[in-house]
Order: sequence, then structure tokens, then C-alpha cells
Amino acid sequence: MAEVDRAVPKAGNDAEGIKDYVSFLLAQEEPRPPITWSNWWSEIYWGQGVALMIIMPLCTFVAAYYTPLRTQTAIWMVVYYFMSAMGVTAGYHRLWAHRSYNATKSLEYVLALLAAAAVQGPIVWWVRGHRAHHRYTDTDLDPYNARRGFIWPHIGWLIVKPRRPHGKVDVNDLKKNTVVMWQLRHYPWLVLVMAVAFPTLVAGAGWGDWKGGCVYAGFLKIVILHHTTSCVNSLAHWLGESPFDDKHSPRDHLFTALLTVGEGYHNFHHQFPMDYRNAIKWYQYDPTKWLIWLCSKVGLASHLKMFPENEIQKGMLSMELKRLHKKQAGIVWPQSDLPVVKWGTYQSLSQIRPLLYIAGFIHDLEGFMDEHPGGERLLRKYIGKDATAAFFGGTYDHSNSAHNLLAMKRVGILHGGMPHATEEKYIPPGQILRVVHTKELSNQLH
Ligand SMILES: [Zn+2]
Ligand SMILES: [Zn+2]
Repeated sequence: MAEVDRAVPKAGNDAEGIKDYVSFLLAQEEPRPPITWSNWWSEIYWGQGVALMIIMPLCTFVAAYYTPLRTQTAIWMVVYYFMSAMGVTAGYHRLWAHRSYNATKSLEYVLALLAAAAVQGPIVWWVRGHRAHHRYTDTDLDPYNARRGFIWPHIGWLIVKPRRPHGKVDVNDLKKNTVVMWQLRHYPWLVLVMAVAFPTLVAGAGWGDWKGGCVYAGFLKIVILHHTTSCVNSLAHWLGESPFDDKHSPRDHLFTALLTVGEGYHNFHHQFPMDYRNAIKWYQYDPTKWLIWLCSKVGLASHLKMFPENEIQKGMLSMELKRLHKKQAGIVWPQSDLPVVKWGTYQSLSQIRPLLYIAGFIHDLEGFMDEHPGGERLLRKYIGKDATAAFFGGTYDHSNSAHNLLAMKRVGILHGGMPHATEEKYIPPGQILRVVHTKELSNQLH
């Protein structure tokens, strides 16, 4: 039976009634028992976790301390680091996990070999976790759930067995891929050769630095790659901006992009995961995108997927409007719940208070008469009368801020006065482009 079939619980016709699918899935399975002093040793991944993520780095640092770093080896380490990193980013991530482009078989083999040098598990294992990360982002079904702090998505999930298995996803496409299956069959050997033997051989045969090649271009490169790749799961869900959507934790930041050969524009990536780009602006650092584009120019890659620009812009605009809406909420606006007053009442009340009618509204100018830049006399002339024409150019064409301030002095609506908000000229300029939430609109309708 296909993996995805097993993944879907027997919800039957009830599926339509499920409001929160993740909670529904979590309820199907009991979590593993809590970690205690008596069971902790069985809750640890001793191989992939302790040996690979703790003991191997410690041994590497000790070996590096006793091994002089030669210039050629340093350059080779950096070059090979970028090559293996690209195997993960252009291969594991953008090609196999997200199918964001098509690659020729020769390119697939090269990427599968280079990625083996990064020692991050076989393609199919890596992709299964990553697809679950996208499918169930920030939940307990996400294997590197960023809501569990910084350490868990960075390294914790590789060392401690999770209390719940990650959400199931469909990886059947990979099971039909000959390169993926070839890499899976030969994975241990490929790791030995590509991660350690090959970089050692290049440095040894090239400039006689066998030990340096093994320590630096072999092991130290693996250690650094483990942590820079993990930064996509930890740092990229923690540091930076959310220019496309803020529903989940992914963020965009140049620093993370620099660490991860361009995978740091993670907010964009989670919104548009099948786009072959992570950075959409030409000046943003995304060498993985540049490599895929170059491969397409020489016939090694094709069908590079890009989300419609219109939808990308829509996402960005939504976030900008959200920010503006929040800013708008922090500003005091004219009162909207005002009493309706008849012309006669307005006139008689004007004998007691300095009331002024302009464009449908009655304004109380108490305390402002002295402050009117055009002088009190001019203003007093219109108390109890219609000053609409005078305000809008008849006597003086008032500034936008004067109009905004006037609106703050509203105390009533004139019965039978002008219909509001029909002519733009009469709307306070600060409110013309007001951001209105759909909820507010539907509240007005009810
Ligand atoms: Zn992510
Ligand atoms: Zn992804």
C-alpha cells in the first residue's frame, strides 16, 4: 500500500466535519512515554545523534587542533563545502523535495553524489522529513517544529527521539526515481567515498596534504555543513522579516542566506515552495538559484517553476496592509457615533457654544477659536451658519491637516445635511485611503 494511503486516518465521511486536521491526526496516535531517568537511554538516537552530531565533531576539533591548515587545503575545503552544500540545496531540497525544476539524469547523479558528501541521510529520508516540515509547519507533526525553541529544530530532533512520529507525506515519486533509489542502495559507500575519501585524495595526491585533506575538507566540512543546513530549520524560523505571510514562523534574512547558500529567504520559500528561487530580487544572495538557472542555460535543467508574480505581489501587499492597519489602529480618528441634529437646534445651540457647520457635520470649536491661524474674527462670522464653501476655498482653501483636525471636532450630524462620504473632497484626507478589515465591513452590514 502506498505510504500516503496509510497516512490518512479512516475518517470516512466524517472528514468534512474535521476542523483542525493536525489535531485530528494527533488524536489518532498515543504519544511516546515521557523521558525519565529509567528510559532515557532508549530514547536517544545513538548513531545519527550522539555519534554523528556530538562525538564526530569533538574528534574533528581535536584532530584540527593538531593538524596545520595549509592554504591549498583551506581553499579546497571551501570549494568542496560549496559543492556539497549545493548538492543538498539544489538537489535534496529544490529538486527532490519540491520538484521545482527538472534535471537531466547526469545532473541528478552529480547532485546525489555531492549531497552524499554532506552526510545528511539518503535523499528519500531527507525529503520525507522536509515534506512533513512543509505540510505540518509549526505543529507536533513537523519533525523540526520551530515552536519548540531553537535547539530542537537545530539539532535536538536528530539526537532525541520525538514524542510523536512526524506527519506522513507522499514520497512515491522518489521511489520511482532511479537515481534516488541508486543513492539509497549504495548510501554508506557513497558517504565514505564522497564525504571523506575523495576530498582526502584530492588534497593528498594534489599537494601532499593527506591528513589535512581528511580533517578539513573531509570531516570539518561535514560538521560545518550539518550546522549551516540546520540553520534553515532553526535560524530561518526565528531571525528576520515576514514579507509574504506571518501565519507561520519562517523568516527572510540575509545572514541565514549567507550561511545556507541562499536558503535564508525562508518566508518566501514556505509561501511559494515549488518556486526554484528562494530570493526573488536580483541582488539577494541565492547561489543555489543561480546554479539552477545556469544549468538550465546549458541544457542540464529545465521547467524551472516560478509562482505568478501577481500572487507574490498580492502576498507582499497583504502584509503591508496588515502593518498599516495596525499603525492605523494606534491613531485616534474622528468620532463616528454622533447624534443627528436639526438646523434649528444647531442654530440655537450656537448661541451657547461656538458650533460650526461644515460639509454635513457640526463641529464644536470651544478652545480652538484663539488658535485658528486665520484669526478668531473670521471664524466667529460663521458660527451657527454653513461654513462649507468658506472652508473649502470660498474664504481659504484649507490644508489636509486642517481638514483632519476639523474632523476631530465633530459633535453632531446635521439632519438632512449632505450625504457623507460621497464626495472625496469632503472626506478628511487622512481617511480617504483607510485600511478596512473585512470583519469591520461585515459588522457594518449586520
Ligand atoms: Zn522551514
Ligand atoms: Zn523546503
